[in-house]
Amino acid sequence: MEQLINPNVKNIQISGIRKFFNMVEGVQNVISLTIGQPDFPTPSHIKDVAKQAIDQNFTSYTANAGYLELRKAASNYVKRKYRIVYHPESEIIVTVGATQGIDIALRTILTPGTEVLLPGPIYPGYEPLIKLAGAKPVYLDTRNTGFKVTAEMIEKAINNHTRCLILPYPSNPTGVSLTREELKEIAEVVKNKPIFVLADEIYSELVYEKEHVSIAEFIPEQTIVINGLSKSHSMTGWRIGFVFAPAYLTKEMIKVHQYNVSCASSISQKAAIAALTTGFYDGRLMREEYVKRRDYVYEQLIKSGYDTVLPDGAFYFFVKIPTDFQLNSFDYCLKMVKENGVAVVPGSAFSEYGEGYFRLSYACSMEKLQEGLNRLLDK
Ligand code: PLP
Repeated sequence: MEQLINPNVKNIQISGIRKFFNMVEGVQNVISLTIGQPDFPTPSHIKDVAKQAIDQNFTSYTANAGYLELRKAASNYVKRKYRIVYHPESEIIVTVGATQGIDIALRTILTPGTEVLLPGPIYPGYEPLIKLAGAKPVYLDTRNTGFKVTAEMIEKAINNHTRCLILPYPSNPTGVSLTREELKEIAEVVKNKPIFVLADEIYSELVYEKEHVSIAEFIPEQTIVINGLSKSHSMTGWRIGFVFAPAYLTKEMIKVHQYNVSCASSISQKAAIAALTTGFYDGRLMREEYVKRRDYVYEQLIKSGYDTVLPDGAFYFFVKIPTDFQLNSFDYCLKMVKENGVAVVPGSAFSEYGEGYFRLSYACSMEKLQEGLNRLLDK
């Protein structure tokens, strides 16, 4: 019977991150600089609302697209931040984390044989979903452009099969972001072509000195914006994401969503309303702390002769493995765990364009970071 299983599912590889964790499981006294989520608790005013929601019996299905009150709050958030209007009734879907938003978007726009452009190195969550839809991931090498995809690269790569461009900025694993000018140039290349842009903006609230710009500002008709509360309000386990897109797209996406999950959790949605209406400043403390840690890590890495890009946002550094190690990224990270007692993620987990690098997360206490860096840099 096993041969009857959908090959698109069978061929999904377990993620490089998971593979690495399986290898190092059980090694004692390791400082982990691998974390992919904020190390702060969800703000208590949000937790209180969730507790009240349970007591007040907000425990039923909600509208498939989510509570209208939440969609209104999400619409106001986007209007305030980007001056873009998405109608709560027809252009917003509340999803089960950003992950499910990415899934329903890709399943709605991709057909077998179509191609998706992705800047590499990149978060490993897209490729399996692209392949499940029978489409083909096509990576654009950003190693020589400071990990930024450029309009020129995109223009060269577009062919008759190209259906989607993924723009995941600020980036996991590199922390870099695109400027207004860079996004405008990209928008000009894809404008009026039969190509959608999937803008994964899950780290949009974790941008430091710079302003976060959404490509939806330039080509709203072609853009599907993915966002959520996982990183902005330290709510990864609550599973609340959003899709913002024109109604001609959301009216199709909602069908996939409805038959897939019905709706996001009612209790989490109530908490999300609090996050977006009274939690404007929740991220400020987190950002201040991340900037301190980022600057500390950067200083240490540069002082020790490591090659890296100063991140604009998120909480990751993507660092080149010094050539004297003569190890691929997986073996280098294994060595760090076993011999130095510190864990970082092999760059190869972020596509072949991540080979030769490792990802270091500073979503952990300053104390842990200091000790972890001492071990990593062998001080
Ligand atoms: N997109 C990117 C770029 C991410 O790094 C992550 C999580 O690490 C996600 C999406 C998933 O977000 P969520 O937990 O809201 O599904």
